[in-house]
Amino acid sequence: TYVVTDACIKCKYMDCVEVCPVDCFYEGENMLVINPSECIDCGVCEPECPAEAILPDTENGLEKWLEINTQYSAEWPNI
Ligand code: SF4
Repeated sequence: TYVVTDACIKCKYMDCVEVCPVDCFYEGENMLVINPSECIDCGVCEPECPAEAILPDTENGLEKWLEINTQYSAEWPNI
């Protein structure tokens, strides 16, 4: 899955949301998040993010962000 990280906080450009083929972006408290169980790992959103906030969870050190994406996407509405 891909995850949204801290560079998104208070940014909320919506370019990623528009390109996602499975609509798996969710509103978070102060950032957008990806629902990891819906993301099909296509990677289309990554280059669309002007803040470079979207990364594949295979990169090191993203466990905390994977948790936050999982939690917010369960609690907040789909966008
Ligand atoms: Fe959506 Fe693809 Fe990005 Fe996953 S990697 S959030 S499916 S655009």
